[in-house]
Amino acid sequence: MTDVFEKLKSLQDILSRKFEIENELSEIPKALETKKELLSRLKVGYIEKNDRLNAIKTNIRKLQLDMAAVEEKRESLEKQMDLIKTQREYEALDKEIQDAGDKEQTLRKDIQRESKVLEELSKSIEREELLIHQQEGELDEEKQRILEESKGKEDELENLKDEEQEIVPGMDSEIIFKFERIIRNKSGLGIVPIKKGTCSGCHMLLPAQFVNDVRGGEGILFCPYCSRILHWEQSVADEEVMIEGISEEDAGGLADLLEDDDD
Ligand SMILES: [Zn+2]
Repeated sequence: MTDVFEKLKSLQDILSRKFEIENELSEIPKALETKKELLSRLKVGYIEKNDRLNAIKTNIRKLQLDMAAVEEKRESLEKQMDLIKTQREYEALDKEIQDAGDKEQTLRKDIQRESKVLEELSKSIEREELLIHQQEGELDEEKQRILEESKGKEDELENLKDEEQEIVPGMDSEIIFKFERIIRNKSGLGIVPIKKGTCSGCHMLLPAQFVNDVRGGEGILFCPYCSRILHWEQSVADEEVMIEGISEEDAGGLADLLEDDDD
């Protein structure tokens, strides 16, 4: 029995480290995912801004064409001035020229305003481009670092699996299955000693008969409360007796108590 418990304890160390690494490996893609998401959001924003930039450019070109047309019209109207004969004709033409001039003025202002927006947007796009390059660089570095880190962890995992295979053969597979599950669920602790009649995993007081059975090495027994495997460690019991024995007469403590309960 002692041999089995020793094996289980070694297996516990291997399995808890193994699960820890598996957990770490599963967390790695999440860290990358966050960075990737950030980058793709940046890229979406960048594309949107570029679309807006192109729309503004198109608008400016249209305004410039409109302005050229108005200019041409005004110039041709001005030429007609020389051919004017009556006051009425003059007033009508003069009004047309003024309207064209006003329109030109409005278009010029529109172009100036749009050009300013264009300039600011271009600068902001430039900044974002830089940021995207920077983020892409960081992501590549991170990927490289993670790749190396994962490689190290996977190697360690392989070694642990080999070590596991050195222990497991010949052991009860159902017990190993339960044991693995306990270690996974109980943060790495699957086999614990009895202390003062309680399970040192969950600190619940165990039935006396049960404690006796564990002490007698009646096979592998699971804590009825937390399902951990319990074993008897004489050194733990001795220590308790020593501590209690200093101040209390009744130093026989747990061991005697249990034997009394035996019948
Ligand atoms: Zn327990």
